[in-house]
Amino acid sequence: MNDTPSPFSEPGADGFKPLILIVDDSPTIRLSLSRALQDEFTPVEAVDGEQAWEFISGDDRIEVVITDLSMPRLDGLGLVKRMRDSVVMRVRNMPVIMVTGDDDTEAREASFMAGANDFVAKTSDRVELLARLRAHRKLAVTLRELEESQRELREQANTDPLTHLANRRFFSHIANKELSLMRRQKEYFAVLMMDIDHFKHTNDTFGHAAGDYVLVQVAQVLSGNVREEDTLARIGGEEFVVSSPYTSRLAAIVLAERLRKAVESLEVQFEGNRIPVTISIGIAMQPQDGDVLDTLLAVADERLYAAKNAGRNRFCAASKHQGELAVDVEKVCPKLDEAVGMIKHGNLHRLIPHIPTLLEELIPLFELVNEESPARIDVDQVRAAIVELKAKDGH
Ligand code: GH3
Ligand code: MG
Ligand code: MG
Repeated sequence: MNDTPSPFSEPGADGFKPLILIVDDSPTIRLSLSRALQDEFTPVEAVDGEQAWEFISGDDRIEVVITDLSMPRLDGLGLVKRMRDSVVMRVRNMPVIMVTGDDDTEAREASFMAGANDFVAKTSDRVELLARLRAHRKLAVTLRELEESQRELREQANTDPLTHLANRRFFSHIANKELSLMRRQKEYFAVLMMDIDHFKHTNDTFGHAAGDYVLVQVAQVLSGNVREEDTLARIGGEEFVVSSPYTSRLAAIVLAERLRKAVESLEVQFEGNRIPVTISIGIAMQPQDGDVLDTLLAVADERLYAAKNAGRNRFCAASKHQGELAVDVEKVCPKLDEAVGMIKHGNLHRLIPHIPTLLEELIPLFELVNEESPARIDVDQVRAAIVELKAKDGH
């Protein structure tokens, strides 16, 4: 069992005494400080700045440091400077109290400059010492609590509590920034709007708790199937969205098909029932469909409903007037002659997720052509295109 008190415990609560590090090369002074403080603090002793640094870095229970100024190896000023430069927030913000001579103004000034919080005279009595240490610890604890609650607030403002995905607000913030960068760089940017199929039926049949469980599972499988640079969010009850920078329409279709397939293969088990889950997806592209986020979302939404109307569990990547409807892609890669037949019959989109594999199959043919004919095919470029498409597909 872990019986460490909370970092915000009050001294004295359940006998809790915060750790204080006493740094001095004189054993006599260490002993007398330990004795003076032990009623309210648990003293830990270090013989110089270097040893103190080791303890501070290695033990996150140490809350306050009281240190001598002049010591061998690393002195008090060196120690406090090193602490203030630390990358660890706990160390950077830890209160440090310097022990100085009675009227050594210069040493006090140097201590403050180095980042010490306070100083005490060698002759200070126990009451003054304890009062100062108590006050500094209390301030440090309050600051930590404040930081903690600010962090929580920031997180709550940006995430959906059920799935821990980004919420709509945070999605808009990130996607708008990405989109403006993509516009400037003249790069593609894809938005995929997704909605769980017949989710009302899931709730009605298995209950609301089962519905919530499905939402969490879908969120997880979507997260596992997008790239690091994609932004995935839950923007409504059972609606999710992904923004994908540097992603062409072809690559977005490959992504959509991967997400669709991943959700379809989810084995959601809840209280002894296997719950089937599928999603429909609408895709919108910058620059083809618009260059403003709201427009892209509206277009993606329109196509999502085209996918729903066409029977669900599929994606739609273009509008009716552009000559394409929602697509139900081939589940397995067709043979080359079948693929050619499908293209002839205007079913190119059914093939799109399989294009890298089909191209790969053609490479020996391209190489043969290059040997036999002066009209050379740039096989390296074909290979590069395959690698790029597969990378977008997460291989
Ligand atoms: P379609 O295939 O057309 O999308 O049908 P649908 O049933 O999914 O669509 P509809 O929009 O009619 O229903 C969505 C349902 O999602 C209704 C609502 O009760 C449920 N829902 C919304 N948010 C939550 C949630 O946070 N938890 C659960 N369990 N259900 C939710
Ligand atoms: Mg739905
Ligand atoms: Mg819906």
